[in-house]
Amino acid sequence: MSQANRLGTEIAAYGRKSDKWVKDPDGTEHIRFDHSGLGLPKQWDKRKQGLRDRYLGKSKMPKKMPIELANLTNKKAIEFAERCDKAGMPPLRSFTNVRSASWASMGDGVLAMSGKHIDDLASYKAPEIALKEAREGWKASLDYHVLTLERVESGQYTNVSAEVLKETKKEIRRLKKLLKDDNAGLEKIGRAASSWKFGDGPSKKPFNSAYYFASVEEQWESTLEHEFSHHIHQTLGVTDIGSYQYPPMEARLIQLHKTHGENATLYAEGQGANRPPMEWFAENRSLWKMGREDIVDQTIKPLMKELDDMGL
Ligand SMILES: [Zn+2]
Repeated sequence: MSQANRLGTEIAAYGRKSDKWVKDPDGTEHIRFDHSGLGLPKQWDKRKQGLRDRYLGKSKMPKKMPIELANLTNKKAIEFAERCDKAGMPPLRSFTNVRSASWASMGDGVLAMSGKHIDDLASYKAPEIALKEAREGWKASLDYHVLTLERVESGQYTNVSAEVLKETKKEIRRLKKLLKDDNAGLEKIGRAASSWKFGDGPSKKPFNSAYYFASVEEQWESTLEHEFSHHIHQTLGVTDIGSYQYPPMEARLIQLHKTHGENATLYAEGQGANRPPMEWFAENRSLWKMGREDIVDQTIKPLMKELDDMGL
């Protein structure tokens, strides 16, 4: 692991040195994001200083990261640096870990990887064991809903709205189907590649695009591609502090997102004001780079080709 962090630090140091990174008037790196979760001081000046001293130009991957995933991260980081150089973009300049519910995040060229998610990956159980455990949970949930329904129907519970009852019946049908079909169960726990395709409707879509892949390595690679896509919209075409704060690609994605068709994942919908266009882009870009053009939103395909032509 320390070996992997040594290489990661070299890659981050290379990225930090790039003259493509926008500087403040005092010559230090300009920062857009607050990087909450990295344990930095609250005061902005000190926070910025802390980010520079402790994170920029360094690699501190999650401690329990399996060596295969650490190596894959470095391999992709080198590839990302090459892609940035071709497109005239600043390369990534930090790889670090954070205790976060989301899998990873990106901002100011800092890739923060969730130690919690890595712990989950590191303790990944064989699919059949994971499925057995999940089935026990679904069975318990089914028993509970069936019992509730019985009590309503026998008059023990009164004043239950028809709407709630309808939802309970729907949930019972869903759980029975999950318990009957092992493959649906594996998809549900993200251990079989989702079979969703256009025309299937939204309810069968997986939570995020990583679940279109079955192996841990592919899921992690697709996560890295997703995060790198955030780096693209944050830095492509950025030339000064103004455009660093308000990136031209983000303005373009907000416009484009208004015309979007049936996009590939659930994940992109319903987050904060500016999140959906960026998540929509990151999810579709990741699928595109992972060879799943067949489930990329038609609306965004011309942009994907444009970025490919730039070497991204
Ligand atoms: Zn994202």
